[in-house]
Amino acid sequence: MSTTETWIARGLTHVAATYGRYPLVAVRGQGSWLWDVDGKKYLDFLSGVAVNNLGHCHPKVVAALREQAEKLLHCSNFYHIPQQIELAELLCEHSFGDRVFFCNSGVEANEAAIKLARKYSVETHAPERSEIVTALASFHGRTLAGISATGQEKVKAGFSPLLPGFKHVPFGDITALRAAITPQCCAIMLEPVQGEGGVNLPPAGYLQAVRELCDEHQLLLIFDEVQVGCGRTGSLFAYQQEEVEPDVMTLAKALAGGPPIGAMVAKEKYAAALGPGSHGSTFGGNPLMAAAGLAALKTILEDGVLKNCVAMGSYLRERLETLQEKFPFIVEVRGRGLIIGLELSIAGGEMVKTALERGLLINCTVDRVLRFLPPLTVSQDEIDQMLEILSGIFTDYQE
Ligand SMILES: *Cc1c(COP(=O)(O)O)cnc(C)c1O
Repeated sequence: MSTTETWIARGLTHVAATYGRYPLVAVRGQGSWLWDVDGKKYLDFLSGVAVNNLGHCHPKVVAALREQAEKLLHCSNFYHIPQQIELAELLCEHSFGDRVFFCNSGVEANEAAIKLARKYSVETHAPERSEIVTALASFHGRTLAGISATGQEKVKAGFSPLLPGFKHVPFGDITALRAAITPQCCAIMLEPVQGEGGVNLPPAGYLQAVRELCDEHQLLLIFDEVQVGCGRTGSLFAYQQEEVEPDVMTLAKALAGGPPIGAMVAKEKYAAALGPGSHGSTFGGNPLMAAAGLAALKTILEDGVLKNCVAMGSYLRERLETLQEKFPFIVEVRGRGLIIGLELSIAGGEMVKTALERGLLINCTVDRVLRFLPPLTVSQDEIDQMLEILSGIFTDYQE
């Protein structure tokens, strides 16, 4: 057996089988490239699902982790943590927010947002105001609150009873959203661009109309930017593309450039509802992850990363549109910055497997949408290499 096969056999024996994994045993990464245990090299256009926005092992993130690891790994949120304070300051300076709650993942950030929306609304308006409207095809994470909020049946199957108080409406349909609002509603929670649901962009004016609806009914507007925040769409946060400010925003994935972190950013008016003892996280905002977060965020802001994301995003979209002329099974190319979906008229799962064999990592959501999430630092030459592998695969499927 090869080293790869040995690891796979061991993994299938003792690791929970919650993922259908591809036959790749990952051991090393640098920039846009990942190496497996047998030394094979892959061009990584998945980025750990939008986590490695600065590429693998960005030197500034690695240096910050190394330096902090020698000073202090963990203390407790009973005490003040300088790196956490600085990261909160930086996030507020560059967003609508006034206050940040730190946790360790996207779903925890969403939990915090859900608890905040309920507590604020129940205390400010009425005890029955606890309902949250979210979108169909949304994805908000895998805890019980997360799957209750998520507008996809497949994540909920077998886990009843779910958390009550969630309603789902079609994404982009303002009439349906308006119709779903009742006196029990406290918030609307949306991804400004849907990621897992197939890279779905909001129709022009939709987010602005949602903002107005929230103001009219005194609802909190929560944007789940776990996937599309941190530079992915070409601006630091996705909401900035349309100049529609939420009241609460959740972040995770790329926030620390690789290591686990989550954050809920909120306006003071709402954040004030979560006082001492109302919420917490042992590891949330610990010195190590906060140091990584600071390094990652500063790099995104200072090193031309957003500019590269915009330029490479348009280049990749244009080139994919060119492929559309050659391959009629490409239905649509859509995306913003470097989250790009290629909708096919046929299933994409087998293409993802072929891509892996040929040294390219991509993924497929909702069966027919190939999703491209390269690092925001990707080069034009790397995009060209990716396109060459992809056209090869498409040509084989054509025949
Ligand atoms: C990945 C994701 C989550 C969940 O994040 P975890 O860190 O896996 O808990 C939530 N919302 C969106 C939009 C995501 O893409």
